[in-house]
Amino acid sequence: MALTGVQIFKLLPKTNCKKCGFPTCLAFAMKLAQRQVSLDACPDVSEEAKATLGEASAPPVRSVTLGAGERAVKMGEETVLFRHEKKFVNPPALALEIKDTDSDDIVEAKIQDVLDSEINRVGQLLRIDAVYLSNDSGDPGRFGSLAEKVAQKAPDVAVIVGTENTDAADAAIKPFNGKNAILYGATEANAEKMAEIAGSAKAALGVKADGLEALSSLTEKIKSFGIEDMLIDPGAGSAKEILEYNTFIRRAAIKKNFKPLGYPVINFAQRSDALFESLVAGIAIAKYASTIVIGSAEKWKNLALFTLRQNVYTDPQVPMQVEQKIYRIGDPTPDSPLLITTNFSLTYFIVSGEVENSKVPAYLAIMDCEGLSVLTAWAAGKFTGSKIANFIKESGIENEVNHRELIIPGYVAILSGAIEDKLEGWKVTVGPREANALPAFLRSAAA
Ligand code: SF4
Repeated sequence: MALTGVQIFKLLPKTNCKKCGFPTCLAFAMKLAQRQVSLDACPDVSEEAKATLGEASAPPVRSVTLGAGERAVKMGEETVLFRHEKKFVNPPALALEIKDTDSDDIVEAKIQDVLDSEINRVGQLLRIDAVYLSNDSGDPGRFGSLAEKVAQKAPDVAVIVGTENTDAADAAIKPFNGKNAILYGATEANAEKMAEIAGSAKAALGVKADGLEALSSLTEKIKSFGIEDMLIDPGAGSAKEILEYNTFIRRAAIKKNFKPLGYPVINFAQRSDALFESLVAGIAIAKYASTIVIGSAEKWKNLALFTLRQNVYTDPQVPMQVEQKIYRIGDPTPDSPLLITTNFSLTYFIVSGEVENSKVPAYLAIMDCEGLSVLTAWAAGKFTGSKIANFIKESGIENEVNHRELIIPGYVAILSGAIEDKLEGWKVTVGPREANALPAFLRSAAA
């Protein structure tokens, strides 16, 4: 049963030492009761309290890791229904289906699609995270051969082995022993054997049932076989069912602390029409899926799904920002121009991209304005003449360039006088308002 904040408070050290990031133990206890923090944040909690609070402090959606090493994907650990309450924590894994009835050429092309899917968007690496191996043939030998091939061609890619046939499961999970694979396909009929196979391969178990009642009793049964890490599939076929089942599961886990449904959810979005598939996958991304199986990996579709996933899993209360420093674009010399803007990620990536397009090597001074864009930072008093002057002086750029000219964004032309007043010997040039005018601006200045 969930403990209240006051019950949790009684078990904490009550020293108000603030090491957890909260001003008092009571404030921390209240957050813990809402499952918005982890008990680990208090370094002084006693072992006895840990044991008592174990259940209360466990995330309502169990943490499960798919894959190992740099490509490992963490799932679960969510604590809220809506992201304006708190950031959604772990973005869902996208897994491309490979069938054991696919020809060798198709298998290789799909593996390549996964390996080539990686893109960098506003400083984050986005990719198709995993492959889902499908035992369409029903033949354990054929399924085992596909698994061997995938393990050999893409040893670092996370794998979900999908079959209800226990012989096929046994054959195909072996190459991924100890690599945090997921064995998907445990049902009421095969649960005990699948639990045994997953346990010996150190794999999490994907559990499948028709409807939430059947799913709840199946996860309880599998838990009694010693399997803790599960991924659950409520059998959602249509987009409507994905929306309904996923929402019900998340509500039950978070609002009711209903442990039998407190696991990451897997949904299947494969459709013959790629556009339709992207819509179904998009609904699963927006509504609580932790793994989404897709049937194809067209680049346009990847981009749409990656962007949606990144946006849903970005904290709306914390602007995305890049590090404050002087960035070198191209191979600038002491005569190269120096531009300045704020550290809002989108601003940085757009401005640096346009400077790159200009082919004019330049220095780009990125100033910490808490991730605000230029006009917002200016209006908030974070991008002012004196703050810009201080940053330029402290950055050391004066030792790297021969000139004393600073190009500022056109939107804050009003700052030019204030900067020149504070930055003795410098000339301020007003650049264009929009970044897409930068290439022409820089080329004409360089001519
Ligand atoms: Fe209290 Fe622990 Fe937080 Fe210190 S770190 S204030 S003891 S909850």
